[in-house]
Amino acid sequence: MSGLNLSHVTKQFGNFTAVNDVSLSVPDGTFVCLLGPSGCGKTTLMRMIAGLDLPTNGSIELGGADITAVPTHKRDLGMVFQSLALFPHLTVGENIAYSLRIRGTPKDVQKKRVDELLAMIHLPGFADRSVAKLSGGQRQRVAIARALAISPKLFLLDEPLSALDAKLREAMQVELRQLQQRLGITTIVVTHDQREAMTMADTVVVMNGGEIRQAAAPVDIYRRPADSFVADFIGQTNLLPVAADSAGRASVLGELVEGIALPAGATKGMLSVRPEDVQLTAPGHGAIAGTVTFIRDLGGAIETFVEAGGTQVIAVSSPRNRPDVSVGQSVGIRLDPATSVVLAR
Ligand code: ATP
Repeated sequence: MSGLNLSHVTKQFGNFTAVNDVSLSVPDGTFVCLLGPSGCGKTTLMRMIAGLDLPTNGSIELGGADITAVPTHKRDLGMVFQSLALFPHLTVGENIAYSLRIRGTPKDVQKKRVDELLAMIHLPGFADRSVAKLSGGQRQRVAIARALAISPKLFLLDEPLSALDAKLREAMQVELRQLQQRLGITTIVVTHDQREAMTMADTVVVMNGGEIRQAAAPVDIYRRPADSFVADFIGQTNLLPVAADSAGRASVLGELVEGIALPAGATKGMLSVRPEDVQLTAPGHGAIAGTVTFIRDLGGAIETFVEAGGTQVIAVSSPRNRPDVSVGQSVGIRLDPATSVVLAR
């Protein structure tokens, strides 16, 4: 099988399991983001893919070959890890050409490749600059070019943009994705920033407690979260208790809601409803009764907080569709079954 395949990969440090039975297939040419809270095992998994740590159990295949125990320098990888800083005493060009030079690549081929890569990272003519004189964003681009110099089979980046300010980080996310698409290189990025993952990835792998909770396209992770951890971790959501009566009809916060079904045999669950899918109306039949407690105007979006049956529900709307409500007002909450997801409780 081509691509990268992880099969039942586990890593233990003493009695502690940092990565637990992870299996994942990454097809050639795709962009995967490993996403999760601090300590969930992202970096440990990445280090095993890079060959910097050996799994306690399981195997890793790249391009059909078992590389579980192959040393890092024989894996054909490009790496941008925070710990792998640029060489400060070398120029930009010398940094980028570094791995070509140690492989004995002829000087003229090195120069051609450096120029190609500098054009690709939008820093043409920078070859002779000192890396000390680069901005944070430029330095990060040079680190990316250095990792790509040998045209690796697999490109691994661990929190590559976390040191950059918010604006530059967003711009670099788009650049990195476009670069990856142009080169068609299989890429894995570790991040704890969900917006970053959603911007760049074909597949977002959400991890928690050393395990994969869901691996899917960004829109599916957002629209069809596999469990309440994923629903809550990715974006903002309302998690509302849902219960079924003996006839199987579902009620949310005490109100029967048409079109919502619990899995066969289940009598209760959680409904994940994104704030932009909550509709506020006049109180009335079929609407969950609530009271507005707070309104937050963020300029680009209006958030309305509603208390309903002891639970806080947040509705988000654009300024154009600002709900005509005020704090203390009784309102009805309407949910659209098509955009709500029933999860196990
Ligand atoms: P962060 O976003 O904070 O970097 P992470 O998801 O990358 O977190 P890891 O660095 O993979 O998390 O760590 C996962 C768990 O394994 C943590 O609880 C960490 O303390 C533990 N761990 C990692 N490396 C070692 C080690 N060498 N020895 C013992 N425990 C370790």
